Amino acid sequence: MTEEENLIRKIKDELKNADLQSKVFELLSDQKWHCRTHEGKPIGSDQYAGSGGIKGLKRGNKNRSGLVIETKKEYCEVCQKKTSWDRWLGERQEANAPSNIPSILVEKILQVYSYTDVIEQRQREKHELVIDQKC
Ligand SMILES: [Zn+2]
Repeated sequence: MTEEENLIRKIKDELKNADLQSKVFELLSDQKWHCRTHEGKPIGSDQYAGSGGIKGLKRGNKNRSGLVIETKKEYCEVCQKKTSWDRWLGERQEANAPSNIPSILVEKILQVYSYTDVIEQRQREKHELVIDQKC
């Protein structure tokens, strides 16, 4: 069994109590693009893209990590209109349910980011100054 088959089996096992999500994953497990309208709707009507479906799979929860799923809008020949498509990239990501991140940590992350931003801006200005002098 390949590593990928192992991963798919593991995820299926984790989803065995989540009826809709396991069906959605069954569809996405081939890592191809799937149209939400003509492929997703028969599985979960309007719930297919919601937290009981794709959104929930992406996000994960306390007991299971999320899935890396990308979404695009493209013309569907079956539906004969522009629809949303989803594709699983065969990878997992850390569950990012809001309750998993303590608010103090979020604040810290934001602080670090804005700080870096300031430094980068200064560096850029400095760099530009050097170029100006050469001219
Ligand atoms: Zn379609």
